[in-house]
Amino acid sequence: MTKPKFYMTTAIAYASTKPHIGNTYEIVLADAIARFKRFEGYDVYFQTGTDEHGEKIELKAKEAGMNPQEYVDKQANEVKNIWDVMNTTYDNFVRTTDKMHEKVVQKIFKKLYDQGDIYKSEYEGLYCTPCESFWTETQAPNGTCPDCGRPLSPKKEESYFFKLSKYQDRLEKYIEEHPDFIYPESRKNEMINNFLKPGLQDLCVSRSSFKWGIPVTFDDKHVIYVWIDALTNYITFIGYDPDGSTEQFNKLWPADLQVIGKDIIRFHTIYWPIILMALDLPLPKTVYGHPWLLFDNDKMSKSKGNVLYADDLVKEFGVDRVRYYLLHEIPYANDGSITKELLIEKSNNDLSNILGNLVTRTVSMANKYFDGVISNPKVNEEIDDNLIQSVSTLADEVSRKMDECKVAEAIDLIMNVLKKCNKYIDETTPWALAKGVNKEDRLKTVIYNLIESIRICALLLSAFIPETAEKILNNICAKSFDYSSAKTFGLTADNTKIGSPEIIFERIVEK
Ligand SMILES: [Zn+2]
Repeated sequence: MTKPKFYMTTAIAYASTKPHIGNTYEIVLADAIARFKRFEGYDVYFQTGTDEHGEKIELKAKEAGMNPQEYVDKQANEVKNIWDVMNTTYDNFVRTTDKMHEKVVQKIFKKLYDQGDIYKSEYEGLYCTPCESFWTETQAPNGTCPDCGRPLSPKKEESYFFKLSKYQDRLEKYIEEHPDFIYPESRKNEMINNFLKPGLQDLCVSRSSFKWGIPVTFDDKHVIYVWIDALTNYITFIGYDPDGSTEQFNKLWPADLQVIGKDIIRFHTIYWPIILMALDLPLPKTVYGHPWLLFDNDKMSKSKGNVLYADDLVKEFGVDRVRYYLLHEIPYANDGSITKELLIEKSNNDLSNILGNLVTRTVSMANKYFDGVISNPKVNEEIDDNLIQSVSTLADEVSRKMDECKVAEAIDLIMNVLKKCNKYIDETTPWALAKGVNKEDRLKTVIYNLIESIRICALLLSAFIPETAEKILNNICAKSFDYSSAKTFGLTADNTKIGSPEIIFERIVEK
């Protein structure tokens, strides 16, 4: 069954430093959703990439003795490598230094200027150089940057401004009327009460203090600042053009889901929708501001020396252990925490003891008792019903959680069924049935029920731990891999010969 298109994006990563594991969470989270949607039959288009302009990059490049383009080429490559190490299935990796993007951004800026949404004025305020942000005295009462805590200095700059205020009422109404526009709900209230209700100030959308940006075509002292340069990547790279967009754009826009970090939710639920309104384009259906991954409950930073990198963790633990940890241990709305010790503990407990053990035990018993041949004589007992019921409804329950971006809770549902399977083994005691008289068909049924439960759980785990899921499905000789086969208990044909027992996740013994 073919389902509609599903266009989803991550934020684009700022190409100034190598992303740490916290910055890598977003792409893995988005990838799990993209994979699950494809599995359900959606025509998914999944875009990610890098944000490559700005003063910070100009400075970093200078420090490294490189020109900015060389510098971002190297950084973008590093980001892309990490996304690939995490086994993510993006369809397009975009870079804001792409010439096509730069040209369309210039046209967008000109269009907004021509229609009076952008005007020239002078900006006066307190400025934080590392954050490239102006702050008002109300926002920064003690003269330090609310984002990074560094001291601010007064600065005056001729700039172009975007009339956010003009669209304020329209946006407020839109947010109120579209409960799915901002996830989680708590963020929605924060945007309305903290930013919209007090009144929007016009947004400074150009800079003349640095050069590394897209020039304003009609005033080359200015470069276009991050808002219009970076946010528009979601439309330019699928073919938006003020002079006439492509068919791909008409098919894909509006985005169905934009996954971003909670720290930039204001930019994506206030600035971004207003830019879209000014361009007369529909707004994305959902913007999900995910929580952060902390290191041992502390913010990860180079200066604190507590930075973990995805590629190092994957080298040490394998990609699925790291994916599993990220996807399962960071809740929908609250920050998560990571240390190597926690990763080992969760991996041993969930992946080795619950999942791995179940698969290995079941496949071993099938081999030991029936030479690996699976059949269902349907000698059912009451205890089977409860298991079969949980397994049969699992796909739809997981799907509902995924629709709400509640990925950790979706995995929980699967883990709970796997635990039930282990309990089912303890309660049906196959080893006793093997010794019993006339119990062969009952034993066959028990093994069959376990293989079917494993098959469905593994199919549903494909979005989260793809390599492992594939290994399990191959091991039990699963034949169909689509969503409907995850909804149907009993698809394994009689006399299916499965593989030999394998270790799915070796326990990690701490040194
Ligand atoms: Zn700052």
